[in-house]
Amino acid sequence: MAVDGLHQFELVEKMGFVRMSGTEEERRAAQILVDEIEAMGVSADTRTFEVKDGTVIKAVFEVIAPERKEYTVTGYKCAGCTKEGGEDYDFIYIEQFDEINLRNARGKFALINGRATADVYRKMLDAGVAGFMTMGGTVKDTLEDSDLDTRKMRESLTKLGLMPAFHIRMTDALEILKSGATRVHIELKTKNHVHISQNVVAEIKGTKYPDEIVAFGAHYDSVEFSYGVWDNAAGSVTIMEILRHFTKNPPARTVRFIWFGSEEVGLLGSHAYVDSLTNAEAAKHVFMVNCDVGGSILGSNGAHITADESLCKYVEYMAKELGYSTSVRQGVMSSDSVPFADRGIPAINFARGGGQGMGFMHTRYDMISLISAEALAVVTDFAVAFSDRLVNAVIFPVPREIPKNIKDELDKYLGRAPQK
Ligand SMILES: [Zn+2]
Repeated sequence: MAVDGLHQFELVEKMGFVRMSGTEEERRAAQILVDEIEAMGVSADTRTFEVKDGTVIKAVFEVIAPERKEYTVTGYKCAGCTKEGGEDYDFIYIEQFDEINLRNARGKFALINGRATADVYRKMLDAGVAGFMTMGGTVKDTLEDSDLDTRKMRESLTKLGLMPAFHIRMTDALEILKSGATRVHIELKTKNHVHISQNVVAEIKGTKYPDEIVAFGAHYDSVEFSYGVWDNAAGSVTIMEILRHFTKNPPARTVRFIWFGSEEVGLLGSHAYVDSLTNAEAAKHVFMVNCDVGGSILGSNGAHITADESLCKYVEYMAKELGYSTSVRQGVMSSDSVPFADRGIPAINFARGGGQGMGFMHTRYDMISLISAEALAVVTDFAVAFSDRLVNAVIFPVPREIPKNIKDELDKYLGRAPQK
């Protein structure tokens, strides 16, 4: 089969500019996809949706004891505001969210280790944390070679409750901990507003089972400062090649391709798509293939199965058969397959992770010099072979159900209390 990796690479390069949710650049990237789809003789549909967003008007963070020092921070968009003029708090570092670390957190401002996932956020709210700060970059960064991005508090978090939140460079966080900071002054002022983002949708009707839909998804937006070639122009071109394959090989089932906008601010494109489906339409979706991160020269392939465990074996056998090196694990991946799985639609996620020394997701170092046509083609070849089998299967082999362990993981990911 052998897809044209060079063509994929050129499309990745063409999309390699910062294209944040709701911006003119995101719209420009959507148009590049539309042009590519239409050049294949397939019609493309651009579907807009509203995004709740915010602006940070003021973000101040100062250590006031034992010594005073102000640090450059960014505030989280859509986070809770402090009162005008700011507030003072005792300071705590939470390296792990266990009872030991959380027992003394009430009414304090916390520097936290890792991301503020819904699970972590809920634990902080329950423990009475007054506000928090995440760290970005590495301790090796200098001011010149690192960017401090402005993060957004996802709706899955804000619906649980509000608190002020900040983001700081790792080098500064290290200095704060070394200085033995005990008390801090914070001020955050944000303003919420709405902007427009879009999904790009293309479809080929099935020749035998037109009422059964296999969905293919990839997000095409990126974050501030990031060219987003690995994450995720690569996945965008992977599903483009799968579409190209089905233009030449008419599928038995309907194949629908969705390039999602605004994934990076809370999977909003995929949520908008799934929310737009009636129950009858959702029931027609038998499966979803999601591609997020790919093309890195140094890297390794992974398949994350958000479906019945039997699919893990299927993929492992197929990988052996075709000589495709990949890790296979069952679980939830933080990507656009989540809203599908939450609606009962099982999914697989194809990814090519960054290799050793290459964890550059969401930074200015997610750049084209680290991507190759060969690395793009190897994953795409397998994704095409896998998709072709599934789409044309006599009996669709993946049970259309989400196993209990995945449901529990989804609850955790989406910040819901576990269902008893
Ligand atoms: Zn991504």
